[in-house]
Formats: sequence, structure tokens, C-alpha cells
Amino acid sequence: MKQVDSVGRGSRLKMAGIAGALIALTALAGWGNYAIPAPVVDRMLEADLRHRATQLNRQVEGHLHDLEETFSIGYMDDHDQEFLELLPATTDIYRFKLFDAKGRVFWSTRASDVGAVTTNAYFTEIVGMGNIFYKHEEKPITEVDSFDADLLDGPTSSTRHVAEIYTPIIKDGQFLGAIEFYTDITQVRSLFINRVRLSLIILSGIALTALAAVILVIHRANRNQLRLLKVHATKERDLMDEQLRLAREVRLLGELNEWLQSSRSLDELFDMVSRFMTHILPKAEGSVYVYSNSRDVLDGCASWNGGSHRAHIHPEGCWGLRRGRTYEFGASEIDFVCEHAEPHDGRPYFCFPILAHGETVGLMHLRAHEGCSDAFHASKKLAQLCAEQISMAIANVRMRDQLHDQSVRDPLTGLFNRRHMTESLRKGISRSQQTGAPLSLIAVDVDHFKKFNDTHGHDAGDMVLRAVGAALEQGCDRDEVACRIGGEEFMLILPDNTPEDAMTRAEKLRQAVEAVSVRYGEKSLPRITISVGVAHYPTHGHMPQDLMRSADDALYAAKDKGRNQVQVARGNAHHENADQSTRRELGTPTPPANAA
Ligand code: GH3
Ligand code: MG
Ligand code: MG
Repeated sequence: MKQVDSVGRGSRLKMAGIAGALIALTALAGWGNYAIPAPVVDRMLEADLRHRATQLNRQVEGHLHDLEETFSIGYMDDHDQEFLELLPATTDIYRFKLFDAKGRVFWSTRASDVGAVTTNAYFTEIVGMGNIFYKHEEKPITEVDSFDADLLDGPTSSTRHVAEIYTPIIKDGQFLGAIEFYTDITQVRSLFINRVRLSLIILSGIALTALAAVILVIHRANRNQLRLLKVHATKERDLMDEQLRLAREVRLLGELNEWLQSSRSLDELFDMVSRFMTHILPKAEGSVYVYSNSRDVLDGCASWNGGSHRAHIHPEGCWGLRRGRTYEFGASEIDFVCEHAEPHDGRPYFCFPILAHGETVGLMHLRAHEGCSDAFHASKKLAQLCAEQISMAIANVRMRDQLHDQSVRDPLTGLFNRRHMTESLRKGISRSQQTGAPLSLIAVDVDHFKKFNDTHGHDAGDMVLRAVGAALEQGCDRDEVACRIGGEEFMLILPDNTPEDAMTRAEKLRQAVEAVSVRYGEKSLPRITISVGVAHYPTHGHMPQDLMRSADDALYAAKDKGRNQVQVARGNAHHENADQSTRRELGTPTPPANAA
């Protein structure tokens, strides 16, 4: 920009210089038309006439019979006389006089001049010193010999321009006298003046034309310069806008990343995605889908900016998911609409598969708002970056979920582990303490499982444990927690269950497990039974350990009573519970009469 500016300034200055020079030249030509011609022409004529006078002088010197005699005593023979008299007729001299060294006219074409003595100082000071003296004067017409006004065209003035030239006659370095020539230069002078004037007029014309051309060129150069500057300014403005846009996008992407990384769950994450995407790509509506656990459909998780999402979509219905890469509808001549994008109104859209650790976990769908197609296509890269960030965040949340699951779940049955159960029980008791809501705890132990293992093998035993776990989990409602405490022992926390509710639920569970049939290879395994103990908060304990011990005691009471049955813990059980567990540890069966 600076360079262009300085180059432009340089050429403009040059142009201005030329224009200035031409204006000056034009003015000079105009002024010169009046001021220059006469003096210039006079100087030219003087030089020419001096030269011609010298030649005439030589002619006279050459023709005179005896130069010295003629100029000293004025003697001339007939031949000399004849020559001198004929001279005006053969040249443009209309008069001439011969002076002796003292300035006396001893011969003249005008007889009246003879005898006159010149008193002019120049005769002795200039001519006497051997130099030519030139004089130009305007004289009345009457003074000019043999002037014929009729020969001239047009009106004539009363005066004529006359040149008088004195040329010295020198012989052997001695001044003998002088010849004075008179010639009428009026005509030639005005002719020359007119010619000079014409030349100056032509010159002025050329200068004016050149001036006009230069002005035109300057004007054009300025216009071009202006256009160039405008183009540059527009480009710079566009560049600035682009940079500002990029800076904003980078900032928003950074913020999105930071927020997404700090999200604790997918729900929270999708909430953030919705809010950020509305800001980052305000001219597009969008939605996010994530594979369900079954992995045969994707569940709609979030939508924003006027977009909507379906409850489920099939992966085969999306060209992005099917081809495993971004699908841009509206960028090619031939496009196919994804099933999940139906009904479609022709607006361009993107489908970005969301990948986590190399595995496709979902889909981000973006669709241009009405009339924003160009801006939408231009935002593909940014949208892609967003999809990548969302992918990474989903991967992070999933990994965190997995790690958390691993720490709270039992790997064989998928039920919660003992650690989680203790924590849940503690929370449940605390909630019941605050709200006064009832809470029940059920302890489950598979009957004669050692024998089962010994008979059918450990693998078969594992399958049965899994089936028992599934039956128990199915028997749980929302907010109820089923856990594998260890080995073939389970516990269930049932908030909001009265002792009666809990007894009914326990009996149902017992029946459910009894009904479980497990196939192992070719054969069906024999059915198994469970013994169940039920304890209730606050009747059987205020602390998790107390409640668990009470439920356990009731469970062993069920064992003692012959297994495959439900027993409730005895009221105010602390001492007796302690008693019972001691007895169990000692291996002494509890008397059936003690059971509730
Ligand atoms: P009871 O009716 O008195 O409960 O008799 P029981 O045989 O079930 O009780 P015991 O505590 O003596 O035996 C528990 C058995 O459970 C021992 C072990 O073989 C089996 N067991 C514990 N954990 C697992 C497991 O993860 N997989 C399999 N297959 N068996 C297990
Ligand atoms: Mg056991
Ligand atoms: Mg057992």
C-alpha cells in the first residue's frame, strides 16, 4: 500500500512537472507572440545586413580604379562613376554615400548630400577604428528614395524601416574613408516577424495540445490510482474482517474445549454443545445423536438454533455414518438425502460422524438456515473442528464413565459392588433420616452353591450367578440398587419400602430366581434356590453395618429354617444380631423358634 502510494506520488509529481512546464511554455509562446518577434528579427536582419554590407564594400573596393585616390581626393573615372550609379539598381540598396577619412561625403546617389560632413561621433569612434556601424531607424516615406507605394498591397504607413550601415575602407592598415549603405528593410522585416509569429502560434498550439494530453494522462493516472487504492482498501478490510472472524472462532473453540473437558456427564456435555454451537455457527441449526447401548440405533441427544432431533435414527440411513466420513449435502451436482434429514427442503447440510478412540460413537448434523447456503459451505472447516472437539469430549466422558463403572460395578454380573452398596445404603439411610421415608434392605444367598459348583463346574456356576444377578436387577425399580456383595451373596436396597412391601418384594425375588432356567451347553442346569433375609430402617439398625448385619442374620435364619425362604430380622436386633452372627461364625444353627 505504502509502495503503491509512493510510486503513485512519484508519477503524479512528474506529471505535474510536465504540466507546469507546458503551461509555462504556452504562456511564454503567447507572450512571445507580441514581445519576441520584432527585436529578434531586427537582430537577425542586422547580422545579415552587416554581412551583406561587407560584401558590397568589397565589391566597391574591387571595382574602383584607384581606391586610395578616390577616397583621398574624390577622383573617379567614368567607369567608376557608371559602376557606382548602377549599384542601387542591381541590389536592394536605395542609396549609398562615400565618405573620405574626415567624414566628408564626396559621392552619393543623392547629389545634395555631396559636400556634407558628418559630425556623428560613431564615425570617428567606431567606423574610423575599422568597425562596421549599423543603425536602424523609422524614416518618413519621403526620405526613402525611389519608394513606390503602389507596388505594395494593402494600406501603407507613412514611415519605413531603414537600415544604415557604415563600412570602413581600410588599405594597408590605413583608414581611407567609409561607405554608407541605405536599405529599406520594412517588407522583409514584417515578413520575418510574421513568420516568427506564425511559428510561435504553432508552438503554442503544440504546447496546448501536449498540455491537454498531459492533463488527460494525469487525470487517468489519478483515476487508476484511486481505483487501485479502493481495491487495496477493500482487500485490507476483508483481510481484517477475516482475521477478526478467525480470532473469534479460535477463541470460541478454545472456550468450547475448556467447557467440554470439564463436563461430568453426556447430558451436561450436550447442553454445552447446544449453547456453544449456537454462538459459533449462528447461521446453522444442529443436532447430536449418540449410539445407544444396543448399538443398532442412535439416540437423539440434543438440538439447537431451531433444529430438532428424532428419538432414534438408524445408522444405515445416514450417508456420513455409512461412509465413515463427513457428508456435505448441497456441494455436488448429485446428492442423496439422508433418511434422518427427511423431509428435506433443499437446504445444504453436513453430517459429521463423531469418533471416540477410533470408534464411531455418534453423529453431529448441521443444516443451513434459509438463505445462508454460501456462508454455511464456507464454515465447513470450523464445523469439522467443532465435531472433533465434541468427539474428544464424548470420548473423555465415556472413558470417565467406564472407569467409574469399573470402580462401582461387579464385572461378572454387572450389578453394583459392595463398595457402592455401602455408599448407597449410607445415602439412603441419611435420606430416610431427613424425610422419615421407610427403607428396607434385602440379603440374598444362593443355597448349596458349593455343591452346585462341585457338580457342574465353576463356569456353569458363573452362568448361574449371572442369571441370578439379572433376575434380581429385573426385580428392582428405579432408585433401587441391586449389588453383588461377594461370592454367591447379594443385597438390594429398597428405599420407600415398608417392611410389608419388602417382604412381598423378597418373596417375589425368591420365586423369580427359583424360576430361572439356565442352559449350559446341550443341557439345562438344575434350578437353584435362594435364601432371603429382610431388615428395615430404623427398626433393625440406624447404621449401614447394623442394618446389613440384621439382614444377614435374617438370611441365616432362613438357611437354618431349611433354605429357599424369606425371613425378616427380629425387632430391636442389635444384641440378638450380634448373638446370631457369633453363632453363625461358630457354625451353630439358629433355632427355628427364633425366626420372625
Ligand atoms: P449354603 O446354602 O449354606 O449357602 O451353602 P453354600 O455351599 O452355598 O455355602 P458356602 O459358603 O459353603 O459356599 C459358597 C460357594 O460359592 C463357594 C464357592 O465355590 C462358590 N462361589 C463363590 N464365589 C463364586 C464365583 O464367583 N463363581 C462360582 N462359580 N462360584 C463361586
Ligand atoms: Mg454364602
Ligand atoms: Mg450359599
